[in-house]
Amino acid sequence: MTIGALRAAGVQLLRQHGVESPELDASLLLAHLLQKDRTWLVLNQDQIVESSVEKQYLSLISQRTAGLSVAYITGFKEFMGLEFSVNSAVLVPRPDTEILVEKALEWLNNKASYPSGPPKVLDLCTGSGCIGISLAYYHPELDLTLSDISKEALAVSKNNAERLFGAKRAASVRLVHSDLLDFFLHQHEQFDLIVSNPPYIPRRIIPDLPREVRQEPLLALDGGEDGLDLIRRLINGAQALLKDKGAIFIESDSEQILSIQELLKNNGFHAIESYPDLSGSLRCTRGSKLST
Ligand code: GLN
Repeated sequence: MTIGALRAAGVQLLRQHGVESPELDASLLLAHLLQKDRTWLVLNQDQIVESSVEKQYLSLISQRTAGLSVAYITGFKEFMGLEFSVNSAVLVPRPDTEILVEKALEWLNNKASYPSGPPKVLDLCTGSGCIGISLAYYHPELDLTLSDISKEALAVSKNNAERLFGAKRAASVRLVHSDLLDFFLHQHEQFDLIVSNPPYIPRRIIPDLPREVRQEPLLALDGGEDGLDLIRRLINGAQALLKDKGAIFIESDSEQILSIQELLKNNGFHAIESYPDLSGSLRCTRGSKLST
């Protein structure tokens, strides 16, 4: 069988099983199996593959039709142009989260926000580390702390820091096991920037999420009754954790934005702004701490 025919068979199977993006998923899985990129597949579609490859490919396709996401099958997900390793202990990085990284990078580009040396950045609920690691990748001088309540997630973020930065620089990335901001509040530690994509799905909605999302860790999704349990704790503690002029960027669902803006205002934040994701829904909110 040729590469083109094998891919076409994959597309057909995925389509029959109602997979949402059969063309893309069929290509991603085949490219992963052959250790090539998607362009290579197009350019080499007449090449014959061995029957062992056919078998392995159909096994990947059947994992996908059984409801596993491509990222969990391949163990990788692209985010901010970087390849993050993922497993079932972490949320798969979403394109919608890139807006938070982009806005935080804009904030970091204004050095007046952190006059005293390299900016200290904390990524809370880091999961795969995709937010904090992307910030440090595109803004190399920052001092990065990644934190999560899940030790398994911290192992994934450590692995990503090592893969994307190399061992030497990854050694300077601090990994902290903490229940949200508790560890840092006890240490009386302060940061210039806090970024977070905490669990924010209202509990009653979880059974109705797409099956791919339901395979992600509940710990990374469940935000309590209205989805705001962790965000409330985060905003209530954030003033103490930020230096003067410091800022916090929080991801949420668009329906939660007004409550979050209100919470930020009631906790003394100013310059509160929300930003839309790729589909135009507000996805991320910033608040800044006034200088005293
Ligand atoms: N955005 C994710 C989703 O739609 C949820 C992420 C989260 O709870 N932090 O499934």
